Amino acid sequence: MDNYHIDTKCVQAGYRPENGEPRQIPIIQSTTFKYDSSEEMGKLFDLEAPGYFYTRLQNPTNDYVAAKIAALEGGCAAMLTSSGQAANFFALFNICESGSHIVSSASIYGGTFNLISVTMAKMGIDVTFVSPDCGRDELNAAFRPNTRAVFGETIANPALTVLDIEKFAEAAHSHGVPLIVDNTFPTPVHCRPIEFGADIVTHSTTKYMDGHGAAVGGAVVDSGHFDWMAHRESFPGLTTPDESYHGIVYAEKFGKEGAFITKCTSQLMRDLGCIQSPQNAYILNLGLESLHVRMERHAANGLAVAEFLSTHPKVVHVSYPHLPSDPYYKLAMKYMPDGGCGVVSFELEGGRPAAEAFMGKLKIAAIETHVADARTCCLNPATSTHRQMSDEQLAAAGIPAGLIRISCGLEAADDLINDLEQALA
Ligand SMILES: *Cc1c(COP(=O)(O)O)cnc(C)c1O
Repeated sequence: MDNYHIDTKCVQAGYRPENGEPRQIPIIQSTTFKYDSSEEMGKLFDLEAPGYFYTRLQNPTNDYVAAKIAALEGGCAAMLTSSGQAANFFALFNICESGSHIVSSASIYGGTFNLISVTMAKMGIDVTFVSPDCGRDELNAAFRPNTRAVFGETIANPALTVLDIEKFAEAAHSHGVPLIVDNTFPTPVHCRPIEFGADIVTHSTTKYMDGHGAAVGGAVVDSGHFDWMAHRESFPGLTTPDESYHGIVYAEKFGKEGAFITKCTSQLMRDLGCIQSPQNAYILNLGLESLHVRMERHAANGLAVAEFLSTHPKVVHVSYPHLPSDPYYKLAMKYMPDGGCGVVSFELEGGRPAAEAFMGKLKIAAIETHVADARTCCLNPATSTHRQMSDEQLAAAGIPAGLIRISCGLEAADDLINDLEQALA
C-alpha cells in the first residue's frame, strides 16, 4: 500500500482479506490459540516462529489495526496498547531502566507529565524538562551520559505548542538516542513525524483515531530507523542477551525494523499486560476508516472557531497554531501545511466566573474532560481539572482562570460559531 495516498491507507491498509475471507476485520474474541503439538507451541514461546498463543501478548485483530497505523505513520511495525498512557510508558520503558534519564519537552499532556516526573521517577528514571521553544544550546545542555530518549508532542495537549521535530531529532541523534513523538493531536493525516526524523511515534487512539469517544486505546509505532547496535552500550535491553528468552539479542535476531516492537511485545506486554481488547481494536479501526475525512472537518472547524474568537471583544487571547497571528504558525505550516486539529484554547475576559457563566450558556458544546471526538466539547481548567489551584497558582502555571479549551467536533462551523456567539453575549 506504500504508494497510495493516506486517504486510501486509512480505509484499506493493514487488513487485506484473501478469497472468501470477511471484508471487515474479524474480531478474534479468544484468549488463547490451539496447537497440534507442544513442539509447535514451544517455537512460539522461544520466538522461533511467528504466531499467537495468548491475547495478553498479541491478538490478530489488534495486529491488523496496528499494521494500519504503522502504514499511516510510515513506520515498519506497531502495537496497540490499552491506553495512550500505556503507549507512552511502553515506548519509554522499552529503552529506559533504573538509572536512565529522559529529555522531554515540558509542554506535554498532564498525564504524561505525571507518568514521567512522578511514576517513572519512582522507578529510578530521571527527567529534564525543556521548553519546546528552547535554543539548540539549551537543548544540548539537557543531555547527560545516561540519557536514553527524547520525548515531545507534535501539537501539545492542552498548551497547543508545536514541536520543532527536526530540532529535537537532531539533538537526540547527535547524542545517540531516539526521538519519541506523541502524535495524538494532528494524527498521521496531518503530520507524520517519522518523515522529519522521529524514531518512535505514539498515540492516544482514544482521541481522533477512534474519534467517537467510544474506546480508550493507544499505539506505539517504530520507524525502524534507529540503529540500536550502533549504540550497543546505551540499549542493553535490545543489544545484549535476554535471559527470559534463552539469550535472544533482539537487535541481532530481528534487526533494526523488528527489534523494538518485538521486545516491547514479548517483554513489556508479557509482564505488564496492557493490551487493547480486540473489541476496542475493531471499534478503533471503524474510526480509522474515516480518519482522513474527519480530520479535514475537525481542522476546518477549529480554524473557523479560532478566527471567530480572535475578533471577539470579550476574548483576551486565542491559541491555535494555524492562526497566522499565533507564535507557532511558522512551525505549523512547516510540519502540518494541510491543517492541524480541532482543539482551540482561548481566554475570556472576567476570569473564573465569566468562564463558568459562558459555559453554562452553551447549547451544542458539552462540558467534558475529553477532546478530539465527533461532538464539540469544552472545559475550563480553573473550575475542573485544575480546581484545587488558586488564581495565583494558575497564573504561575500559565493557565489563566478564564482559559477555556474547546474541542471542535464535526458539526457545521456556522452552528458552532452561533452557539459561541450567543453564549458570549
Ligand atoms: C489523552 C492523551 C494521552 C493519554 O491517553 P489515554 O488514552 O487517555 O491514556 C496521551 N497523550 C496525549 C497527547 C493525549 O491527548
